Amino acid sequence: MDPSASYHEDRDEIDLSIKRVFESGYFILGNEVKMFEKEFADYVGVKQGVGVANGTDAIELALRACDVGPGDIVFTVSHTAVATVAAIERCGANPFLLDILPESYTINPESLEKVLLEFDRGKYSGKGSPKAVIPVHLYGHPVDISAVIDIAKKYNLYVIEDCAQAHGAMFLDKMVGSFGDFAAFSFYPTKNLGAIGDGGIVLTNQIDKYEKMLALRQYGWKYRFISSYSGINSRLDELQAAILRVKLRKLNSANQRRLEIADYYLENISNPLISVNSIPSGIKHVFHQFVIQALDRSSLIGHLKSYSIGCAIHYPMPVHLQPAYIEKIMMESAGLPVTEKIKDNILSLPMYPQLNHKHVERVVDAINSWVG
Ligand SMILES: *Cc1c(COP(=O)(O)O)cnc(C)c1O
Repeated sequence: MDPSASYHEDRDEIDLSIKRVFESGYFILGNEVKMFEKEFADYVGVKQGVGVANGTDAIELALRACDVGPGDIVFTVSHTAVATVAAIERCGANPFLLDILPESYTINPESLEKVLLEFDRGKYSGKGSPKAVIPVHLYGHPVDISAVIDIAKKYNLYVIEDCAQAHGAMFLDKMVGSFGDFAAFSFYPTKNLGAIGDGGIVLTNQIDKYEKMLALRQYGWKYRFISSYSGINSRLDELQAAILRVKLRKLNSANQRRLEIADYYLENISNPLISVNSIPSGIKHVFHQFVIQALDRSSLIGHLKSYSIGCAIHYPMPVHLQPAYIEKIMMESAGLPVTEKIKDNILSLPMYPQLNHKHVERVVDAINSWVG
């Protein structure tokens, strides 16, 4: 990934937008943020958006808007950015980690339903009550969101979609982020829609929750200087919003280019030592990452390095095995076999819209010449 490549591509428009903010004299919660919130919510097909400081805060605010807190359980996956789990803890609730499907690297709806049944039967009595689920559209691959929504309805859970890696992805013909009660997005510079610094947004169609999140992001103020809730300070700033407005207009074509690169990888990587998931029909994958699997991963990394090709592991250690969480965090009693099976084999190849044909060809040549 090369975060400055997208700046160079749209430099004139971005420079103009920066100048506009400097000259306006409004740096916090002004017109740029308001316009971006509207434009981004329209893009996803949701009524309201609240611009916040980062994607982690977006998840936290959604949870707090529905009074999820101490004594409550929130389900998500262990195979995610640790931010998803950190946000649950920030609001005082307990995370409960579930396994993923090997073909999509996203939440296994059957795991969710199985654990909810166990809660109903008292298996976890005294551990808290299920309140919400956070499906993560990881790598740009949509979750089987209709299955998750059906289960959540049945068990009365809020659904907060973690869309930090899936701006513009679609499930059937609808954007991810438009299915749940809330959608949380991050604009960290490397995301499909990235700021030049930190940023995030939380979307919802529910007006009461929207108004509460507006207050929560600014000290709990409903009216200036008067806190109706105990809030935090988590604001998207005008500069980031102005830049994001430019980049939002390019998002579809940037995602299209990611898809072309992914298609090229899928068609041309022919090394039998490498496995890659195919793209199922009925979804639009936006390839935040292009992930392959190889048994002898460290040898492959060394081989790519000898070709001066960068790669990364997302993520080298699932949340339930990390020092902060191991043996403390709640998870499926049978363990998380798929999560643990893939963790030593996954590898993310170069993927960003400004990669040109020569770059991608070189990656494929390097991969195909690896002999293990
Ligand atoms: C990046 C990311 C987040 C957190 O976003 P920040 O802006 O870094 O706080 C949350 N979830 C996932 C899946 C992410 O990739």
